[in-house]
Amino acid sequence: MPARRRASFRIGVTGLGERQEIAPGVFINTAYRGCTPGFVVTDEGLILIDTPLIPKQAKDWRKQIEAELQGLPLLYVFNTDHHRGHALGNQYFLPTTVIAHERAFKEMSGYTENFKERVYNSFKREPDIQEQLTEIEIILPDVTFTDSARLQYGGREVKLIYVGGHTPATSIAWLPKEKIAFVGDILWVDQHPYMAQADSLEWIEALRRIRSLGAEMLVPGHGPVCSPDDTEKVEEYIRYKRQRVRDYYRSGKTKNEAKSGLVGEMLELFPVPLDRKAKIESQIKSGINRVYREIQREEELASAELGNGAFPPPISAPVLVREQPADANLVPSPETLPAPPISKSEQNGGREVEQEAKL
Ligand SMILES: [Zn+2]
Repeated sequence: MPARRRASFRIGVTGLGERQEIAPGVFINTAYRGCTPGFVVTDEGLILIDTPLIPKQAKDWRKQIEAELQGLPLLYVFNTDHHRGHALGNQYFLPTTVIAHERAFKEMSGYTENFKERVYNSFKREPDIQEQLTEIEIILPDVTFTDSARLQYGGREVKLIYVGGHTPATSIAWLPKEKIAFVGDILWVDQHPYMAQADSLEWIEALRRIRSLGAEMLVPGHGPVCSPDDTEKVEEYIRYKRQRVRDYYRSGKTKNEAKSGLVGEMLELFPVPLDRKAKIESQIKSGINRVYREIQREEELASAELGNGAFPPPISAPVLVREQPADANLVPSPETLPAPPISKSEQNGGREVEQEAKL
């Protein structure tokens, strides 16, 4: 790693936010909408993690990155998932090689004109941003992977690891020497996780995997750096949501009843700014929707395994126990794993890609 680097924690004063050097040659910026982007300096070029959604911020980020370039190329842009907050700014970092999970490629391939229009319309209350969004260009990943990939450049090692959970594409960037992991939207600190494309059981497993890396610092998809301990709260949240949805399911309540019945209590779990309440509520509901389908699948499977054909199973029926204490080994046995996550894009012809976070 370059010796000239000096660790510092500069806090933004420009309104756009200055980069923070969280370890020598490893930078992030927490001032942008949509994601906390980062980059890693190597002797051969830079590796970027995620790109800001708002064009003005993406251009600002590019300027800040260029200050560290010193004639080196932008080697890669890695998108932790395909959501607009992480990948829509790719166009401002060319020329480079965009790398992401195979599923991210698939989802982004569905970003049609209609998707662009939705992005544009989602900022109708912020005309200054809307003005900037007139020329959205989708830059698809050039390189994809399914399980993991290793970027080894100029004395740096960056491992890209698929973890799933948040989306079928969610992957993290792990710097083993620096003990820093960019974990994308797997980790939300004191915020409601966005779960509209989630597999909750896989998410819990992803958090366990992240804890097992031995990281000293985590960079979440949104917000400032945090520690592996911060994964506990979001896990509790997901477990709680699963348990409550299961309660509703077992008492014969429909998906819509679960949504309207649970949204209030879920809302209490993390602070929500008044002006974002409606948006968060709708995100919580789409998460409940997703989890309900999962629970339904699990309960049907459990019921079938019991051979009693009961549907829904009676409340007192012995069911497949998936909820375990936070410190338990969370790896579900293969036979109890639910079916692989099915994105809505597979289920409804590509509309899911347009229903992602508008953060
Ligand atoms: Zn996301």
